[in-house]
Amino acid sequence: MKIHRAAWILPISAPPIRKGWVAIDEGRIAAVGGSEEEPPPGTDAIDGSRESSPSVILPGLVNAHTHIELSWMRGKVAPDRSMPAWTSRLMGLRRTVSADPVAPVYEAISSARDSGTCLVGDITNTLASEEPLRGSPLSALLFRELIGFSGTDPAGAVRRAMGDCAALPVSDRLQCSIAPHAPYSVSPELFTAIAAATHRTVVSVHLGESPEEVEFLRCGGGAWRELLEGLGVWNPGWQAPGCGPVAYLSGFGLVTEKLLAVHAVQLTDTELATLASAGSTIVTCPRSNVWTGVGMPPADRFYSAGVRVAVGTDSLASVDDLNMFSEIAALRQAAVQVPAAAILESATRIGAEALGFGRDLGTIEPGKRAELIAVRIPRDVQDVEEYLLSGVQPAAVRWLEDSET
Ligand SMILES: [Zn+2]
Repeated sequence: MKIHRAAWILPISAPPIRKGWVAIDEGRIAAVGGSEEEPPPGTDAIDGSRESSPSVILPGLVNAHTHIELSWMRGKVAPDRSMPAWTSRLMGLRRTVSADPVAPVYEAISSARDSGTCLVGDITNTLASEEPLRGSPLSALLFRELIGFSGTDPAGAVRRAMGDCAALPVSDRLQCSIAPHAPYSVSPELFTAIAAATHRTVVSVHLGESPEEVEFLRCGGGAWRELLEGLGVWNPGWQAPGCGPVAYLSGFGLVTEKLLAVHAVQLTDTELATLASAGSTIVTCPRSNVWTGVGMPPADRFYSAGVRVAVGTDSLASVDDLNMFSEIAALRQAAVQVPAAAILESATRIGAEALGFGRDLGTIEPGKRAELIAVRIPRDVQDVEEYLLSGVQPAAVRWLEDSET
């Protein structure tokens, strides 16, 4: 058993504790408390509370949406004001390689870890990130992504993707599910087949990201249709549903508590209310939204609608780094009315629960895995939660001993 003391403990499941301690036993949290309670006896104490620079202990952060296999694209797909135009350039770049280079995957994983991330929701078309993730301290829910607007055998595509997942070694740190890409890139038949196969598992969908997606679903035209036609994958039998992204997904039975609606930038208040009452989770990626030209997410509205909000960086094709502290600093700019505690909860507990790791990660509570970070803070900080939204750099982050098992 080890006791870690710090100027602040942020359990997330309870208010911040000044001059607190966390007891860790064999990689699990044994107890947590403040100055009025004594830690368990017979313990090996590591007192960080008297260090020259104080620190705050909090759970490792959860990056609920990224595409680690695209890490080699860092800095190679410049920002754009049109997401279809940006996507078209990304696809052109990806066609220049026969396989996504793997070395940047390892670098991305270690930089994510160094900046305090313990768990990722990782979208993959190739499963190239699986082995690097398995060999790393990060936990992950891999989403084997399905794309296909005109494929002839959607059930077969789903079966093969499920087979890819089932072939992976089972682990409580690495799990696999399947995911449809987006309403403009997945046919109704493929959505139906995915819904049938995933009624008990977490599903992640890029939803309500660009204004062009809303246009496409309303009237069947616009830049996404032009892109599909240009690629030769337009389906002439497809009919625009004439509704918004949430109603469209709802028609396939996918709007449930298992849904991760990634981005949601374009959603109306009515759509947000639908997600809230279904218990779905929005994964917001504000820095990527600015990069791809879809605009800042209406994050104040996400929270005021009562939707569960998790946070992701998206891929290094549309963001400078996988530092979740940078992401929540950007989210703070889009969610100015939201308490800092709620934003921190989004980047920890809500993300862990949405990815199915809520039993082990996301808060400092007895029984959970002790994957905890200590962040160095200036001595004069009054509001420690707000400080953590100011753009913490990796040099200020360290993993607590016994955090890695
Ligand atoms: Zn994405």
